[in-house]
Amino acid sequence: MKSATSAKPAPKLMSADDALARILAGVPTLAAVETPLLDALGLVLAEDVAADRDVPPFRNSAMDGYAVRGDDVASAPVELRVVGEVAAGEFPDRDVGPGEAMRIMTGAPMPDGADTVVRVEDSDNASDVVTITAATPKGISIREAGEDLKKGERILDAGTVLRAAEIGLLASVGRAQVLVRKRPRVAVFSTGDEIVDLDAPLERGQIRDSNRYTLASAVRAAGAEPWVRDIVPDSPDALRTALGEGIAADAIVTSGGVSVGDHDHLKPVLAELGKIDFWAIAIRPGRPLAFGELRDGDRRVPIFGLPGNTVSALVTFEMFVRPALLRMQGRANVARPRAKARLVEPVDKIGSLRFFARGIFDPEAGTVRLTGPQGSGILRSMSLANCLIDLPVGPSRIEKGELVDVILTEQPEVTR
Ligand code: AMP
Ligand code: MG
Repeated sequence: MKSATSAKPAPKLMSADDALARILAGVPTLAAVETPLLDALGLVLAEDVAADRDVPPFRNSAMDGYAVRGDDVASAPVELRVVGEVAAGEFPDRDVGPGEAMRIMTGAPMPDGADTVVRVEDSDNASDVVTITAATPKGISIREAGEDLKKGERILDAGTVLRAAEIGLLASVGRAQVLVRKRPRVAVFSTGDEIVDLDAPLERGQIRDSNRYTLASAVRAAGAEPWVRDIVPDSPDALRTALGEGIAADAIVTSGGVSVGDHDHLKPVLAELGKIDFWAIAIRPGRPLAFGELRDGDRRVPIFGLPGNTVSALVTFEMFVRPALLRMQGRANVARPRAKARLVEPVDKIGSLRFFARGIFDPEAGTVRLTGPQGSGILRSMSLANCLIDLPVGPSRIEKGELVDVILTEQPEVTR
């Protein structure tokens, strides 16, 4: 029986937008760290980078062919004396004069005197006297020194998200290490007496832990590093110990125990360890959410207490934790791309709350349909989905044919 003293005050009801704004304002941007270039993909550059030299560093051929003087090949056919050969990685041992040609490979330095490359296809490919068979415009097929990057020029600004192209730019100016915002290390806990890990037998009344695996993977997909911790039983002592260890991380994500059930202990324990707000977010799935921070000296460690239901946990991660982890990495834009789509079936919400239905968006047709049953414990509804259908506060039935907003959860946030 529940005693009168265990009655809990109703948590503050908050819109998802307000909750996200408060979370983004509350999370710290992580420190900048020197990182090996290949580990920096997806991270945010924390320094301005200038070119240490011209790229390419020397004038070179864009084709396999013959380095010549343009005046000699203005009309064809014409015969030129072959005075040598230069391959990529070599350097020409002489100039090219009037009536002369030097065989040259793609990427090889241009010999002085030459200003044009005739493609090997426009010649008879001979080695003593070559016949140029096609008139070739002066200056063609040459890559100038510095045509990509000029020495001293700023090529990337602090704040840039590093994609494959930027990693390549940094390599081309010799940066083996770069200063980037740290990848957050995120402690991931599951809570609940009924939760059992994958290697243990399942007894009566128990269920497999899926949330830690879901959430650790979602952490990784957000560019952060999951630190998978234990399953924590529904006991204040166990929670206290577990969260005390979790403080070594850059952020903590838990699932379960944030409701107002008799065994939901997260609230009192978190109140001891730091400053935490318990919110009832006006959305479905995923009403209860705890957000706050634990303190470890000067370090502020954001903590997200997500609901235990599998869909609620992943939807609230998507709506609140992923943007927070991106912001901690220094990302300016943390919003997924959205689209408009026409419903091919009616949707019944529970009440008037904003509802995130799991959908299959067809970009060709501009339509969206549901993934089937939408219960907050039906994880398959997320597995089948390629979007969330964002149905605003309002009528509980949305008719077939109505235009709705979809959040493209398979697409990364735009970085430029
Ligand atoms: P709670 O938020 O703790 O009240 O849990 C709500 C529901 O989610 C319950 O049915 C739990 O059994 C289920 N649940 C909680 N944690 C997990 C988990 N780690 N994996 C799968 N289901 C869970
Ligand atoms: Mg529980």
